[in-house]
Amino acid sequence: MSASRPLPNPDPLTRPYWEGAKARRLVLPRCDACDQWHFYPRSVCPHCGSDAIAWHDASGKGVIYSVTHVHRAPSPAFEAMVPYAVAIVALDEGPHLMSAVIGSEIAQVKIDAPVTVDFVDEGDITLPVFRLASAAKI
Ligand code: ZN
Repeated sequence: MSASRPLPNPDPLTRPYWEGAKARRLVLPRCDACDQWHFYPRSVCPHCGSDAIAWHDASGKGVIYSVTHVHRAPSPAFEAMVPYAVAIVALDEGPHLMSAVIGSEIAQVKIDAPVTVDFVDEGDITLPVFRLASAAKI
């Protein structure tokens, strides 16, 4: 018996992020008052406190800031995925985002490696994931 993988549950604050992913776009909040990006989504800007926040397309590019190679599933829901790499990606826009890095042997997924966003459908939701830029789909 396989358990189902836990998936995000979009709420009003995060819905633009998930709707963007569904459309194969990485969208992030950016403050109109100070012009800085942030992630995770918040109702006020963490840089200046303004609530003038709008969603914009991000480049989908960044580098791996930190990575964990998972060899032992944390729950039965992840057993079919091991081994896999979970990384904190430092996006070119500045924010850091945690996601899976797919499409490469996990030994190739290393700190400072350039990555590009891709998207994976999981039921009703689309998850932003990353691929090594050297292995990105053409
Ligand atoms: Zn701001």
